[in-house]
Amino acid sequence: MRELTILGTASQVPTRHRNHNGYQLRWDDEVILFDPGEGTQRQMLQAGLAVTPLTRICITHFHGDHSLGLPGIIQRISLDKVPHPVRVHFPAGGQDYFDRLRHATSFYDIADLRPEPVSGGFRAETSGGTLTALPLRHSIETYGYRLAEADGRRMVPALLEAYGMSGPAVGELQRTGRSGTVTLDDVSAPRPGQKFAFVMDTGLCDNVFALAEGADLLVIESTFLAADAEMAAQVGHLTAGQAASVARQSGVRTLVLTHFSQRYADSTRFLDEARAEFDGDIVIAEDLMRVPVPPRLGSSHERAATARG
Ligand SMILES: [Zn+2]
Ligand SMILES: [Zn+2]
Repeated sequence: MRELTILGTASQVPTRHRNHNGYQLRWDDEVILFDPGEGTQRQMLQAGLAVTPLTRICITHFHGDHSLGLPGIIQRISLDKVPHPVRVHFPAGGQDYFDRLRHATSFYDIADLRPEPVSGGFRAETSGGTLTALPLRHSIETYGYRLAEADGRRMVPALLEAYGMSGPAVGELQRTGRSGTVTLDDVSAPRPGQKFAFVMDTGLCDNVFALAEGADLLVIESTFLAADAEMAAQVGHLTAGQAASVARQSGVRTLVLTHFSQRYADSTRFLDEARAEFDGDIVIAEDLMRVPVPPRLGSSHERAATARG
């Protein structure tokens, strides 16, 4: 299963309806908690999520709305005796902040945390694809993350039938790429890998586009509306329209806008401004929402083959 659970959506301070940030991505066996702001432990409870499946925690930067929940999550990982290592990624320059949050209060510490700070060119292989991090433009060192599954191929039933392939011959094709005179390419179609991108506090910069490129699901900050665009640029944030324009230019499929300033009471204005720029799926994030990674698109080759079959 590949699904995003939104735990919090407020920038800077929580409101009555929005917790500090927090996002859990379940990507098959890879379960990543992004930016646990204050109150994330309780929001996970409300969302029906446990810490046990977590494999990784990714911190974009050490502002409180993205990291004050880390001590609670770490202590819960220890209390619940999570039996596997949990890797933690954060900007390398924020090591002092991480060390303080890691040991914020006294607790019986048996958590197997593996800190893996990120800096330029960071790349890690996960069970769900390659995780990369790129620096963004904010008031302190900030990184966005991207998880990209490798492209593969998938068998097309109509082509298997046309070539008379079944049973052990299919297994042989998958293992060796050939069965008799039939090759894997004859009976399969490209299967583009799925991509997820997470872009928090930043002004517009090239790396926002690099992270978002071709994403099936893009979670991106949308702190301000267009009327406050000048301030957004000054403080290193995006407007809803800018975030949606990134989605359009990058070929994103589902756009999740979040990290809203508490100055706006009516969140439908974010949707209006985003809709003017992007005609794909737009989700205005609310706490405890679940957003599935959109189903894979069949390639045109596969659709044509299926139609012919
Ligand atoms: Zn923030
Ligand atoms: Zn920030």
